[in-house]
Amino acid sequence: MRTILLGPPGAGKGTQAQVLAQRAGVPQVATGDILRRAREEGTDLGRRAQSYMDRGELVPDEVMIGIIEQRLQEADAREGFVLDGFPRTVPQAEALGELLLGLGMPLDAVLALDVPEEVIVRRLAGRRTCPGCGRSYHVESDPPPADGRCQNCGRELVTRPDDRAETVRERLGVYRRQTEPLKEYYQARGLLRQVDGLGTVEEVTERLQSALGR
Ligand code: AMP
Repeated sequence: MRTILLGPPGAGKGTQAQVLAQRAGVPQVATGDILRRAREEGTDLGRRAQSYMDRGELVPDEVMIGIIEQRLQEADAREGFVLDGFPRTVPQAEALGELLLGLGMPLDAVLALDVPEEVIVRRLAGRRTCPGCGRSYHVESDPPPADGRCQNCGRELVTRPDDRAETVRERLGVYRRQTEPLKEYYQARGLLRQVDGLGTVEEVTERLQSALGR
């Protein structure tokens, strides 16, 4: 399975990408997680990405394309992948297209999660994220363990700095201007499947699986 999960921040891309990837036995490739890890490790990439991320802006295309070129050529991606958070711009989608063509690994489908904006703002305000493994929780719909630590890896959960209301508005604007045009881009290539992102995690997973024809 080679697929992209597209959607605004807070649409549930990360949660669903994790489930779909696990079921298919392929890696979830989440560029936001890659950048957050680089920040934690204090690498050059992490330092470069930090100011963009904190402002809710996109990290420059050439940086992101370099990351994805490297990641998709690792051995575990040969059987497939679920891309989460990439591509986010038309130039990124074009670069991905060329890369996959060169590797002889065409995409099966692009899954776009539809979620109304007011739901997104509520979801992001209640999100708690594990800085270790990237698992996210929600104070109402998927409450974190009582000790505030991740049930997968035991790290203390945090509110992502870019989940603050001000930055969320900026990220939604960036999504509408720069990422939403990708729906048309993939529609024109016959790859787009739009999926209702409202409901329980399980309900949305089932819709995504059936959109994939599985
Ligand atoms: P996410 O975890 O996917 O919401 O990503 C968090 C932040 O990382 C974004 O707001 C961007 O600053 C940066 N980022 C992640 N993926 C990309 C990408 N494909 N292109 C540009 N910036 C990205």
